[in-house]
This record gives sequence, structure tokens and C-alpha cells, in this order.
Amino acid sequence: MFKILHLTLDKMDNIIIKSLVIKATAKGEADAFLTLLSEAGKFYATIKGVKKANARLAYAAQPFNFGEYIFSKRGNNYLVTNCTEIDTFFDLQKDYDRYIAGCAVLDILDKITIDNEYQIFLLTLKTLAKLTYEHTLTEKQLLAFFILKLLHCLGLRFQVSANCASCGTDLAHTIYYEPYNNGIICAMCKTLYSMKIERGVFTTLKLLDASKMDSIAKLKLQDEHLHDTLLLLDKVIQNTLEFKSVVLDKMLNSKF
Ligand SMILES: [Zn+2]
Repeated sequence: MFKILHLTLDKMDNIIIKSLVIKATAKGEADAFLTLLSEAGKFYATIKGVKKANARLAYAAQPFNFGEYIFSKRGNNYLVTNCTEIDTFFDLQKDYDRYIAGCAVLDILDKITIDNEYQIFLLTLKTLAKLTYEHTLTEKQLLAFFILKLLHCLGLRFQVSANCASCGTDLAHTIYYEPYNNGIICAMCKTLYSMKIERGVFTTLKLLDASKMDSIAKLKLQDEHLHDTLLLLDKVIQNTLEFKSVVLDKMLNSKF
């Protein structure tokens, strides 16, 4: 299950690995079942007694907690025995919009398969850190960037080029997203399923796609185009990953 490169075994054969809690669900009276994203991919573990008052490791069972976890293997299951906190991203909760964007990141990660994807681990932590601490970047910029790069990491790169993804001609004023080939197409190639997209959305996608996270702030992106870009990326996720993020939908529909 683990990529040996990123994990350490202590003298008791416990596994020590940096992990982020993506989801925590109650298990029995006092325990929790965790979905974690680690340096070696996604995996699951139980943490005992965290719902009791004054539980020592209560923080380690909270979504967004990032720390160096220690797991012991019990049969086919992993049990959290300790956690050294690195960041809880607690300040994210002080801003509702940024918090919901963070929840959308976790929700998307929860629904996809991730094996040995160190890039996704880094992308996720960087996105959460910028959402929490770098308010010069909006939550929409960060979430759109996260989704585009995540699709790239998963090998599902969304085609954003100057030419129609179907016939190859230059894209004129009226353009569409076509779920069938997961690309942007011209008016001549549109089908019943194509969705018309604004030029500003197309430009936003192209700029974000070509950008690095540290240079997003320099891009001149309009909020309304970012909103529509996220609506389009929501469709792309549904089309390529075959699930619908309820949290992303909630974020996109709450203000309009
Ligand atoms: Zn075409």
C-alpha cells in the first residue's frame, strides 16, 4: 500500500508518515474512521477514543489536520497511535467562503482514487496553505487552479488550446465545451451535449492552465469569469471523474 520511499518504520515497525485528514466519520461510540492523504497516496485508518472528553488525539481526527502520523498495523487495518501536528489550517474557518473552498478540495479528493501521487499531495497542501494564509489570492482562483492541476496529475488534462478540439480550426467567437472529447470546440462541431462558454472563461482557463501557483496573483482574472470557469470545471469533473461534488455545487450556487 505504501511507497517505501516516503515512509519510515520505527523500532516497533510502526509506520510514520506525513498525512492530511480528508474525512472523518464516527465509528462506534468513541472512535473515528479517517480518510487520509499522505505522501504515499490515499489510505484509511481508525483512531480510537477521540470522541471522549479531553481525548489526547482529538485534533488528529479533524478534517484539515496535517501532521506526522504514526500508524500501527492491526490485521488489514491501520490504527493511529500518535500524531505530531504540523498545521491544522484552523484560520480557514474564520472566512466562510475560503473554508467552503477548502471543503470542496477535500470533497473532491475524497471521491477520487489516488495512488502514489506525491504531486497531488503537494498541490493539496499548497492550495490549503494559500487558502488559509494568502488572502491576495481569492478562493475561486485557488480552487479553479487546484482542479485544473489535479486533472493534469490524474492524466485527464482538460484541453485548452487555440484550436477546436474536434476539427482543429481556429476557435472563433462562439465556442463550446464538448463532454465527448473533453475539450473546447467550434460552432460547426457542436453537438446536442455541447455547452456554450464565454470567451472570458476560455481566457481564464488558458491563463490558469499555463500558470504556476505562485504567479496566479499576477493574472488579471475577473471574478464572474472565475465563477463560470468553476461551473465549467464542475461539468468536466462530472464528465471525466464521474462524480458530482456537492460542496462545489453549494459554493457555486450560494451567491448567484
Ligand atoms: Zn470544430
